[in-house]
Amino acid sequence: MTTATRGTGQQGGQQGGPQAVLTPLSFSGEGSWAYDPAPERVRPTIRGRYGLFIGGEFVDPAGGKWFASVNPATDETICEVGEAGEADVDRAVKAARDALPGWRAMPAKERGKLLYRVARRLQERARELAVLETMDGGKPIRESRDVDIPLAAAHFFYHAGWADKLRFAFAGRTPEPVGVCGQIIPWNFPLLMAAWKVAPALACGNTVVLKPAETTPLTALVLGEICREVGIPAGVVNIVTGAGATGAAIVNHPGIDKIAFTGSTDVGKLIARSVAGTKKKLTLELGGKSPNIIFEDASIDQAIEGIIQGIYFNQGHVCCAGSRLFVQESVLPEVVAKLEHRLTSLRVGDPLDKNTDVGAINSKAQLATIEKYLDAGRGEGARLHEVNGSALPERGNWCRPCFFTGVQPSHRIAREEIFGPVLAVMSFRTPDEAITRANNTPYGLAAGVWTDKGSKIFEIASRLKAGVVWLNTYNKFDPASPFGGFKESGFGREGGMHGLRAYVRV
Ligand code: NAP
Ligand code: MG
Repeated sequence: MTTATRGTGQQGGQQGGPQAVLTPLSFSGEGSWAYDPAPERVRPTIRGRYGLFIGGEFVDPAGGKWFASVNPATDETICEVGEAGEADVDRAVKAARDALPGWRAMPAKERGKLLYRVARRLQERARELAVLETMDGGKPIRESRDVDIPLAAAHFFYHAGWADKLRFAFAGRTPEPVGVCGQIIPWNFPLLMAAWKVAPALACGNTVVLKPAETTPLTALVLGEICREVGIPAGVVNIVTGAGATGAAIVNHPGIDKIAFTGSTDVGKLIARSVAGTKKKLTLELGGKSPNIIFEDASIDQAIEGIIQGIYFNQGHVCCAGSRLFVQESVLPEVVAKLEHRLTSLRVGDPLDKNTDVGAINSKAQLATIEKYLDAGRGEGARLHEVNGSALPERGNWCRPCFFTGVQPSHRIAREEIFGPVLAVMSFRTPDEAITRANNTPYGLAAGVWTDKGSKIFEIASRLKAGVVWLNTYNKFDPASPFGGFKESGFGREGGMHGLRAYVRV
């Protein structure tokens, strides 16, 4: 069905070079490609209100303030959640401080057993958690079911194994816990980010006060419930919900020994300033504008799937999204044509439908940000390829996957993090040019390289300034593999043996 032609070295695609000929697909309307709905039917039991999880209990916020957690695919309120003020954060820090001596003194093997129990309970409650994650955040059920929840459980399994083996990770030295850890996470992988924070902290003998993002607090609260169910002592894990002010109250609390933050570079810089000059340890996992580099010798069909995985996965709400695509000039027309063709086949819509590829944008504010960048790209003269024709639901926040060609390195869409399903496509001629342009960014979180040549892979991977470099694949995660950034993408690593370093004093 697809007859693509390779280019001849001219700038093709948008500049009128040889065009690949591909049969258009339509998944949106009637016909052979229309699928019947395949809704996930499980509905978790959700209480009308969730208090703050402090000292092993769900308690009402001292200020009596509550906020709604909304389903971004329907605009409906799912439930109300407590808004933690300074007094609540203080109470949570005290609970974590009180629980610290007992938790530290517990034999490491016993701590490990409790973490294994959390991992197994996450697996047992996986379906319920996946539905809740999708309802609260808008991501397709296929992803929350196959990626978020299994990886969150894997993170607890992995760190359970470290609990009684820490002295092997720090040979010849005695690792001690840091103390009370304040942990602040974003909305793009709510339960997974909570697992990235809580599992290593607990394995190393620390206690925590965790703040999930305002728009996606629910699975973190269930994690609190699970910690209680499996017998983690009260006060070891505390979860305070709220918005930026709650996060700031954690950052500024004098009883906190360490801050671990994942979120935007702007808030990360604010936190670094607040923490400077205090005894607090700090790790930051921040934004990115990651390059995905396709060489002419790559398997193009495989690379197209990597591009899809790199930027359209989770609506582009991925810190390490491959949002700058660099394509060797000779294959640019082929890549652009095949990308257009593939984008027509992505289904945008109800995240609880098992056929959905691209779900809802997490919030109205994030949708407005994405639309601002679409306007900026058009205004700066790039060409927007809007080929996806999915029929969108009437309510909720939606953005069809799209990409820009004719992008200059100075364009805002090539420099700034969009955090949506929008790709900036650029071309290059030589490997040196690809590396220079890929590294020309204040960020350095991740990168992708697609080529058939092993020697090229090693040469390029070693010259890219990025915390993770994926080779002939993209967005693959494993708890044993450290993740983190260069430059303005932050410092410190999460996962693997390197990630333990943030949670111990040696
Ligand atoms: P954000 O605005 O920085 O928020 C992150 C968290 O910080 C949220 O819980 C937020 O609360 C809280 N917060 C906001 N203002 C604060 C303040 N002044 N002090 C303390 N905490 C504060 O980021 P976002 O928009 O939610 O998330 C998207 C960003 O996260 C992107 O830039 C993305 O690249 C980055 N990210 C990075 C990684 C990584 O591993 N490097 C992973 C995921 C995401 P509320 O949201 O409740 O207001
Ligand atoms: Mg929500």
